[in-house]
Amino acid sequence: MAPEKRFLELWGIQADLAYGSAVLQWDQETYMPPEGAEARGKILATLAEIKHAKMVSSELKDAIEAAAEVAEAGSELEAQVLEARRIVEREAKIPAALAKALAEAESAGLVAWQNARKEADFALFRDSLAETVKLNQEKAAALAPDGNAYDAMLDLYEAGTTEAQLVPMFEELGATLAPMIQAVKDSGVVVDESPAQGHFDPVKQQEFTSMVAARMGYRFEGGRLDKTTHPFCTTFGSGDVRITWRYQEDDIRPALYGVMHEAGHGLYEQGVGPDVRTPIGNATGLGMHESQSRLWENMVGRSESFWEWAMPHFIAAFPDKQGLTPAAMQPALNTCRPSLIRVEADEATYNLHVAARFEIERKLFAGKVAVDDLPELWDQTYEDLLGVRATSASDGVLQDIHWAMGAFGYFPTYTIGNLICAQLFESAKAKLGDLDAMFREGEFAPLLGWLRENVHQHGKRYPTHKLVEMATGKPLSAGPLLDHLTGMANRVYGVPVAAK
Ligand code: ZN
Repeated sequence: MAPEKRFLELWGIQADLAYGSAVLQWDQETYMPPEGAEARGKILATLAEIKHAKMVSSELKDAIEAAAEVAEAGSELEAQVLEARRIVEREAKIPAALAKALAEAESAGLVAWQNARKEADFALFRDSLAETVKLNQEKAAALAPDGNAYDAMLDLYEAGTTEAQLVPMFEELGATLAPMIQAVKDSGVVVDESPAQGHFDPVKQQEFTSMVAARMGYRFEGGRLDKTTHPFCTTFGSGDVRITWRYQEDDIRPALYGVMHEAGHGLYEQGVGPDVRTPIGNATGLGMHESQSRLWENMVGRSESFWEWAMPHFIAAFPDKQGLTPAAMQPALNTCRPSLIRVEADEATYNLHVAARFEIERKLFAGKVAVDDLPELWDQTYEDLLGVRATSASDGVLQDIHWAMGAFGYFPTYTIGNLICAQLFESAKAKLGDLDAMFREGEFAPLLGWLRENVHQHGKRYPTHKLVEMATGKPLSAGPLLDHLTGMANRVYGVPVAAK
């Protein structure tokens, strides 16, 4: 068999095992009955063990190297080989027993977290979290024996990202956002949020948000929307990209912006160019992924021009809102108010939620704090950065699913995504002209087309920073995001935009 064919055939098995596990995980979070948890944990652990064994086998290694010999410089095959080699080398550093223990701990952690969150009792999650942290510290030590443990975690989600790069990035954001948030507070302006509140029938919410997702270009023929505690997007193949949602009966925002967010992720997955069973057949990194979801959620979904198209549909679904104008809706969608829950945070304070988790994770992986310290450290960090303190652990340390799943080092990709999102949107505007005029007509295809051409189609051919430069002509910077946020605070709260 030709070396290229052999290599891609073996890699396809890796992809199938990953997508198979993803189906089971999707089911675990949507339809699985509670008593199925134990068996599900075993199945996932077995699949993880098989996948690991096949990935570090000499069979795959030899196939990669044989393909490397025939790959021409700059070819797609070369990109496939380099990415496969990077993944296999990383995997080979993790002992099989550790990989299995991690999969089991993460499955158990998910169940414990769901329970603890429901009961608002950190003690119910404490032991399984301690085990997950310990195993991930072992994993970090295996991946980077001489390096920084937290860098090893960050690298899993955004290749090459380091703690040392992120510290100044969060400092730059904080330097503008902290005084801006203070100025908003001092302005005394209280936003009327009633346009986004009221009573919204869940069935109508599902119809309305699905209609918006379809209009964005999310293909339901190759996707679906299901209810879950913590919304996510998952892919089993190019024709099966699923999203999940949750709703609040008294507020349209969690459902609408949750669905627009996940559909933004879904559009990326539905548009990846290279075959999804190959090493480069997926998103380039989590930061770029998040940029796609935030772009649709924030840049599109919170704009007045979007609402000029959406309002008649909104009123048709919720006749109580008869007479509401897009302009009257605007402030409620662009608030700046420190709050407790990250996934429901406004755009302006969102990055401080991420900064809080970054601070806590750094300390945890540097061994400066213990798992038992986390609830208090969480509350204190929130008080320091956002000026708010949770009265229930469910709104504090237990709010996110990530640690239960062993995803340490994941949160910073949310803020990297926000930076990329603002920069991409600025470039799309410069290239496509009057996007607002298009949004008013419900025309989102030109924007999607630009994203397909400049981001989606490339899959994982290029690293994040290179792709950002190719798409926007500039290296990634905080400027466009800060311009966007300070502009918003100016419009809604009359806060003067600081001179540069
Ligand atoms: Zn996301």
